[in-house]
Amino acid sequence: MTDYNQLLKTLPHGSKILQDPLLNKGTSFSDAERNQLGLRGLLPPRILSLETQKEKIMENFYAKDNDLEKYIYMIALQDRNETLFYHTVIDEIEIMMPIIYTPTVGQACQEYDHIFRRPRGLYISIQDRGNIKTILGNWPNSQVEVIVVTDGERILGLGDLGVNGMGIPVGKLSLYTACAGINPSRCLPITLDVGTNNTTLLKNSLYLGLQQERLHGNEYDSFIDEFMETVAEVFPDAVIQFEDFANANAARLLKKYQDSYRTFNDDIQGTAAVALAGLMTSMKVTSQALEDQKLVFYGAGTAGIGIAKLFVQALMEKGIPKNVAYNQCWFVDSGGLVVKSREDLSADKMDFAHDHQHLKKLQEIVETVEPTILIGVSGQGNSFTQPVIETLARFNDQPIIFALSNPTSKSECSAEDAYRWTNGRAIFASGSPFESVQINDKSLIPSQGNNVYIFPGVGLGVIISKTPVIKDSLFLTAAKTLSEFTSAEDLDRGRLYPPLHQIREVSRAIAIAVAKKASQDNLSVTSLPSDLEHYVFSRMYDPIYTDYTTV
Ligand code: NAD
Repeated sequence: MTDYNQLLKTLPHGSKILQDPLLNKGTSFSDAERNQLGLRGLLPPRILSLETQKEKIMENFYAKDNDLEKYIYMIALQDRNETLFYHTVIDEIEIMMPIIYTPTVGQACQEYDHIFRRPRGLYISIQDRGNIKTILGNWPNSQVEVIVVTDGERILGLGDLGVNGMGIPVGKLSLYTACAGINPSRCLPITLDVGTNNTTLLKNSLYLGLQQERLHGNEYDSFIDEFMETVAEVFPDAVIQFEDFANANAARLLKKYQDSYRTFNDDIQGTAAVALAGLMTSMKVTSQALEDQKLVFYGAGTAGIGIAKLFVQALMEKGIPKNVAYNQCWFVDSGGLVVKSREDLSADKMDFAHDHQHLKKLQEIVETVEPTILIGVSGQGNSFTQPVIETLARFNDQPIIFALSNPTSKSECSAEDAYRWTNGRAIFASGSPFESVQINDKSLIPSQGNNVYIFPGVGLGVIISKTPVIKDSLFLTAAKTLSEFTSAEDLDRGRLYPPLHQIREVSRAIAIAVAKKASQDNLSVTSLPSDLEHYVFSRMYDPIYTDYTTV
């Protein structure tokens, strides 16, 4: 395996450098470089600056007919020239985010068999059992700082897509680089192929994964065990982010590994932190305290329970007893209100069960419980109906409504519904993006609780502090740091999160705060640089071309 810094010293020449996306500059190679690297004649004579190259990319990007075409175009650029790709993505982050990540990446995964051109990342299948170390050894870069891994069983809201889920680790790692400056050569996307239960894929002759049913039980667990042990051995510095595993496995595997590996689950912990940050920021709008809130979660799955647990931690840090904090959270699942008399509750739900009559209708629940905050994590589109929202608005001057289910069609209500039915009084956040809404001569900007505000910064903070495990306290720190980022002007317009063009600043601040917290709590196994702020800034990858004549 090669260290990439080493590779820079032994630069490939001629067509080889043009084919290496981490080194290629395309039409930007200077005259001197063309002479030195044997490129003369292999490129058209005109030399373009990085900025001009970007302008050309954007012109072509806008000429594409649809978002999937734009995605394919950007991935092809990433495969050709990563510096130009990241320069463009960072400069145009608001336009690029929905293309290189949700929602377009979902469509890309669905069409993966057809749009697959060049492999990116590692595929490790159950046929590789006992041999995972060799597969990891085939990765060309020896220094890996972040791994995003999926087994493709629950890709976004699209279900089991098997190896077609590879678009997710690839996309998430692009965001690590764009938002937190993790060097692209140190990012490793991995898809574990444990089969698929998607009958369409099982019958599709073009499907690129194993055409067999998913492994489960002990066999599945020992495969994941081997994966974790081997990754920790081959890439001991890597953060391992679990992504889009089925809910039953996600929480279970997190519990199993979180105290022994440098790992976290973004669907659980990233979601919890971004939602909690939104709640903390809402308190600035209402001038209330988090400890005085009563929350109703509509949906008691991975996301909801994760948010509630981090909310409980936030309250405990303020000195509120655990049982009191738990009592402030009410859950509703497909069986209705989560109450002690129910016999069908998992242990996680039982922790939040109340001694209360078993109500089933949401409106009746809101009427009876009188929450200050209503959080939708049910995947049930339009379940926050007008009567539900009007009831909530009856006893709250500024009702807090988070409709977090994705995609847009599954959102519990739209931004427009939340604002109109409360006459502009609602504080609203959603999982999917919504356009701004004009109410009473005021333009309100709905907030999108996108996990991208959290995971890149946490990852960078963990890498810097070298903490061997990633405690929930670090996500609490990330939430607090994020919530400090919203300006008075943002708040006035309904925005609970900073605009995306500040994402590198946000990620840097989170990384610094996380590294400091890890050090304070003695989680860190290294002492932090004395000038941490400057160190973090300097280690963030900046997509500008290296002058190879000086290397
Ligand atoms: P999950 O399947 O684990 O949980 C869904 C929950 O909804 C379950 O408790 C289920 O009982 C409940 N439910 C289903 N039908 C219901 C009904 N009719 N009434 C009441 N409850 C009902 O799913 P999850 O992983 O927790 O995700 C839930 C939603 O949150 C998804 O739509 C996902 O897209 C979204 N999400 C958003 C973000 C974000 O915005 N950053 C992050 C993660 C998940």
